[in-house]
Amino acid sequence: MPVETNNDKNSAKPPRIRQFGGSLLILLSLLLILNFIVPSFFEARLPQVPYSDFIAQVEAGKVDRAVVGGDRIEYALKTQTPEGKTEERVFVTTPVAIDLDLPKILRDHKVEFAAPPPNQNGWIGTLLSWVVPPLIFFGIWGFLINRQGGGPAALTVGKSKARIYSEGSTGVKFVDVAGVDEAKAELEEIVDFLKNASKYTRLGAKIPKGVLLVGPPGTGKTLLAKAIAGEASVPFFSISGSEFIELFVGIGAARVRDLFDQAKKQAPCIVFIDELDALGKSRGGAGPIMGGNDEREQTLNQLLTEMDGFDANTGVIIIAATNRPEILDPALRRPGRFDRQVVVDRPDKIGREAILKVHARNVKLAEDVNLNVIAGRTPGFAGADLANLVNEAALLAARQNRQAVTMADFNEAIERLVAGLEKRSRVLNETEKKTVAYHEVGHAIIGALMPGAGKVEKISVVPRGVGALGYTIQMPEEDRFLMLEDEIRGRIATLLGGRSAEEIVFGKVSTGASDDIQKATDLAERTVTLYGMSGELGPVAFEKTQQEFLEGYSNPRRPISPKVAEEIDREVKQIVDNAHYVALAILRQNRDLLEQTAQELLQKEILEGEQLRAHLSQAKAPDEMEEWLRSGKLPHDLARVPTMVV
Ligand code: ADP
Ligand code: MG
Ligand code: ZN
Repeated sequence: MPVETNNDKNSAKPPRIRQFGGSLLILLSLLLILNFIVPSFFEARLPQVPYSDFIAQVEAGKVDRAVVGGDRIEYALKTQTPEGKTEERVFVTTPVAIDLDLPKILRDHKVEFAAPPPNQNGWIGTLLSWVVPPLIFFGIWGFLINRQGGGPAALTVGKSKARIYSEGSTGVKFVDVAGVDEAKAELEEIVDFLKNASKYTRLGAKIPKGVLLVGPPGTGKTLLAKAIAGEASVPFFSISGSEFIELFVGIGAARVRDLFDQAKKQAPCIVFIDELDALGKSRGGAGPIMGGNDEREQTLNQLLTEMDGFDANTGVIIIAATNRPEILDPALRRPGRFDRQVVVDRPDKIGREAILKVHARNVKLAEDVNLNVIAGRTPGFAGADLANLVNEAALLAARQNRQAVTMADFNEAIERLVAGLEKRSRVLNETEKKTVAYHEVGHAIIGALMPGAGKVEKISVVPRGVGALGYTIQMPEEDRFLMLEDEIRGRIATLLGGRSAEEIVFGKVSTGASDDIQKATDLAERTVTLYGMSGELGPVAFEKTQQEFLEGYSNPRRPISPKVAEEIDREVKQIVDNAHYVALAILRQNRDLLEQTAQELLQKEILEGEQLRAHLSQAKAPDEMEEWLRSGKLPHDLARVPTMVV
């Protein structure tokens, strides 16, 4: 990736200023210290005489001149050198208290006396003692502020830290962004607004003020913004929402103001605010942590004010990106603000292939690599995942000292990304290994019979990733955007297949199925509370809106009566129990196949491809399966059927 380059206008100079300021400061402090130390250094060498001796010398008429200060008297004695010359020697004494008789005594003995000059340190000292302390103060302050954010110069607290990209300086072009064609088309239009504004304004059209890029993480929102900067021949300011949020309340707001001031001066231009959600969270929303919320609100309010405050046709377009549109303050999405939303979604198969092509440009591919096949095997991968995949494959090839990246490297890389690293070092004992083998084959046999889940590609008893002791990989043949009722049932049964196999073979279960059970139960619950698939409860939503992009995040249920809660629980249990029953029925029907396949898996550790298909194609469906897939119901009353076969 090309590194973002900062425009020299904004960032090259300030460090020099700061450096200069720093050395000036040190020089001044040194001067001040010298100014104080040097005179007292000399003074200290004058011989110190007791006050009483001084008075005695005055009365003896030996003292010629004296400089009388409040706490120090310097005086000169006339002394005769052995050679007979008169010589002046200077002494110092400290008066006991303010001696009001002293002037009289001095006058009486004809001593020439004076007070010390008003300032002992000289004018430089005075100046420095006024100038240096504030300088030191500001220096430390500026240092702290800078360390916090690396802002331009020491004292510009509220200055925006927006980086300005000049044309093309990001090194990213639209061709580097693939698989998000709709978003690209919309943004190309925006760039055109700026380049040929008159074409639109001539007809009275208003150029949009704000465009919000919305999409899951890693789909290329930031990349798109950089591409705009690379393509547009206008200045491009870029700042991240989290950069607005600073320690001191009010600075975020000042930054926004400053950013817009700069932008308006440079119009037409583009302002890009990344991670808008860091700043635009719903006001009055959840959990204010002392002060933090306050700051964000101020910054957000300032942003809203600024967006309203300029005319649409000044030629400043604000583009913002977020992966959590649902938490944004509604005020941000009002017309006249971010009124355009561009969805940057996960790519489909064709898109994935295009993205793979973009990233494979810099990688040496072997003959056998087929990006189309890889795209097919990576449903749900976002652009960032695909970029990572290509890199991971290249790393694997490099580790093997290969000349080019092969298809095998890609396959291993996909598995790594899906299931984690292989952990051959984790040694299972015999019982564990057997348990894992039957468990995985249980998943595989049921998975092979269920609709819509794709074919089982691989079973392995080599531990991988964080918790997986073995795994079964099932690849969908195409991208799917909906799941049908029967497919969900099939999925639940497949998830329970591992545990069911343990029950049938060993007569006792292990802890290894907890994750499967969790997923199966979640899915069953969602069919009731979210998808309205329960016959008893009907198409009623018992859960509030779904989080759009964050998976695994479940919102609280709507307020429901205890009776309904009970019914939901019963329905969920019914669905899981039925699926479990069918899973057991299938495995009992295919008991021999389960045995053979597991034994072979134990021997080879990994089963895949033709070998695996030869086994799984023998799986037979029991009678009740079709009916259950269709209706979710079993032909007889479950309560009378023992689910555990010892
Ligand atoms: P987002 O901002 O949406 O979270 P980024 O733009 O930061 O995602 O994407 C991270 C990286 O993933 C990019 O730098 C790029 O290498 C890769 N990437 C993501 N989406 C795409 C895409 N559509 N085309 C090509 N590369 C992509
Ligand atoms: Mg981003
Ligand atoms: Zn399992």
